[in-house]
Amino acid sequence: MIPALHIRAELMRQIELHGEGAYPEEGAGFLLGTNGAERQVRAILALPNEREDGARHNRFLIGPRDYLRAETEADRVDLSLLGVFHSHPDHPNVPSEYDREWAQPFFSYIITSVNDGLAAGSRSWRLTEDRSGFTEELIQEDGRDVLGAVNEYRTNERINE
Ligand SMILES: [Zn+2]
Repeated sequence: MIPALHIRAELMRQIELHGEGAYPEEGAGFLLGTNGAERQVRAILALPNEREDGARHNRFLIGPRDYLRAETEADRVDLSLLGVFHSHPDHPNVPSEYDREWAQPFFSYIITSVNDGLAAGSRSWRLTEDRSGFTEELIQEDGRDVLGAVNEYRTNERINE
């Protein structure tokens, strides 16, 4: 069984607020933290909600430059890139087929349901080794010291590049 994903409650709340702010679009961002005996999210790096291309109603797209910036930011604050969070507006917090196609091993995927603009629960998922699906990873909200959210950054890149 996959060990729980540890995250402090207020950081989890920031993820949910980001999903609410993005509604009715999907909101997304990166999970930064440490990956020792237990996996601990210590900061988030939220992608801006107002992406130029408004066509993304049911899917988010994180481009290579986003990953590069997230890796750079993680290095700067001496953390590892642990995964991605995103919201599912008016949909269950389980991965879609699109999510599976774009998922990568190792990463944790936190998905938050946002129903009528309000966060309605989050679950975390890990891609199975054969990439055929996901295994749920329990979210353990706890009170360890946390770095806090890294500020949102803006990107001018077009979503289709
Ligand atoms: Zn999704």
